[in-house]
Amino acid sequence: MSFTKASVRDASLDGGRVLARVDVNVPLERGAVEDDTRIRAALPTIELMRERDAAVVLCSHLGRPKGRDPDLSLAPVARRLGELLGADVPLAPGVVGPDVAREAEDLERGEVLMLENTRFEPGETTNDPALAEALAGLADIYVDDAFAAAHRAHASTEGVAHHLPGYAGLLLEREVRELTSVRDDPEPPLVVLLGGAKVSDKIGAIERLMRSAAQILIGGAMCFSFFRARGVPTGDSLVEEEGVELARRALEGAADSGCELRLPVDLVLGDRFDAAAERRKIDGVEVPDGWMGLDIGPRTAAEYGDAVSAAGTVFWNGPMGAFELGPFAAGTRSVAEAVAAAPGRTVVGGGDSAAALNEFGLAGEVDWLSTGGGASLELMEGKSLPGVEVLLDASEVKA
Ligand code: ADP
Ligand code: MG
Repeated sequence: MSFTKASVRDASLDGGRVLARVDVNVPLERGAVEDDTRIRAALPTIELMRERDAAVVLCSHLGRPKGRDPDLSLAPVARRLGELLGADVPLAPGVVGPDVAREAEDLERGEVLMLENTRFEPGETTNDPALAEALAGLADIYVDDAFAAAHRAHASTEGVAHHLPGYAGLLLEREVRELTSVRDDPEPPLVVLLGGAKVSDKIGAIERLMRSAAQILIGGAMCFSFFRARGVPTGDSLVEEEGVELARRALEGAADSGCELRLPVDLVLGDRFDAAAERRKIDGVEVPDGWMGLDIGPRTAAEYGDAVSAAGTVFWNGPMGAFELGPFAAGTRSVAEAVAAAPGRTVVGGGDSAAALNEFGLAGEVDWLSTGGGASLELMEGKSLPGVEVLLDASEVKA
């Protein structure tokens, strides 16, 4: 399947005003940007629009404010973006309204204005048509580069595109292309590594990828729903109860589809969820009471690593254990190193998997590191993303 949406590259920007939705929902630490990965990821599209002499009105959400919340102002983000662009990026006094409209109107070619956090407006998450229309009133065309927010039909990601011609930004375009190709035409064999907290988050991806994957390797707390479904004792491990039935269904589905669904064969246990917890390795997966499984064991990590090395394509989402607790990071680190060294094509999605790669200094070693967590999983599930669907089809762009 190819990407059929109109690209910002094909838009006539010259001298026009663009409303560009980016996802610069970054972690802040005492009023400053702690990790600017998502801001950097938005740069190519912003730079392209400026080079084409467009006046650029940027918008994004940040966190989950309930109304106007000064702690979640985009001011630090606008400042950081200005440093990266080497240009002034003023912050508008709000999201919409007469003062904002005036600033957008006064914007010169090549200049960039950032609107305040779109979620300061309650109509953002309810996809209020009035807010969508007010946003659309700020510009002549709409460019969506916010892949990480594309699974949400909000006013700034979906509603607004009903009022303006909408184009895909470079990041959004690349994300959809990379992830779709893993899902639909991977170089075989496709090996999928899934970890993290909950089966319910990932069941859709498991069931969809079973059709094309040779192996799905399970780690993280998620494996305990599978063990519970098989009647293996899980001790005090984190078990998502509603995940047990889903896990049972996935095990049956795998048996039918010819995809090998693999579970850990050894574990690292802790007596509580704490970096200072007492630690113990078991060769096997039966967790005694009083202990919880917090990482995959070395034998599992080595076996998963071998599968990754032999893959034509690797997709990884979700850490193999509680990697943020140092003593329980070894399994995730080992798998991350295998993914980084794999000769096949490697694609990684998910906030915590990306954080793990960054922490190990391996983020640059994979072929594609998605900026989208939920969005990348929904795409893998085969769901359509509202923020993508609503954009112009390439065939609608007049030459
Ligand atoms: P991603 O953001 O990459 O999709 P998730 O958000 O699904 O990943 O899961 C990450 C979380 O899962 C981390 O906070 C990690 O501590 C937790 N986790 C992973 N394995 C375990 C485990 N065995 N026990 C408890 N928590 C775990
Ligand atoms: Mg996460």
